[in-house]
Amino acid sequence: MILDTENLVIDLKSLSRGMNRGVFIIPFKKVKWNIEDVEPIDSQGTLELAVDYGDDVILCTGSLDGHFQIPCARCLEPVGFSISEEICREYTWSPDPASDEQREVIPQSGKLDILEAVREAVLLSIPGKLLCSPDCTGICYN
Ligand SMILES: [Zn+2]
Repeated sequence: MILDTENLVIDLKSLSRGMNRGVFIIPFKKVKWNIEDVEPIDSQGTLELAVDYGDDVILCTGSLDGHFQIPCARCLEPVGFSISEEICREYTWSPDPASDEQREVIPQSGKLDILEAVREAVLLSIPGKLLCSPDCTGICYN
């Protein structure tokens, strides 16, 4: 399986039918995460992928190992968190408009863009209200 690790695009020609597995080093600082206030801490992370290439559907699952940071909810100092959510996304050549299943269309180019699926795992891993320490007093001390 060949993955463009900066853009997170899989070349479908590099996949065999059935299950494809791979482990990739992702240059975190080069990926366009586009998540407000969230930035990677490490320069790279590990992406483990299992891509099931079927007749109608390509099922992409996996996990991302890495650390990101978000401002403390009180004092805005950066606080780290790790990715805890799994990646899971279905792609299809011919979506059924009557179906409400969430499937992305596979482009004619044969380049499968999994950036959104990986971004989603990062988004879902963001803790609700993260504090730099439990007794953070915030910016204002009054
Ligand atoms: Zn704080």
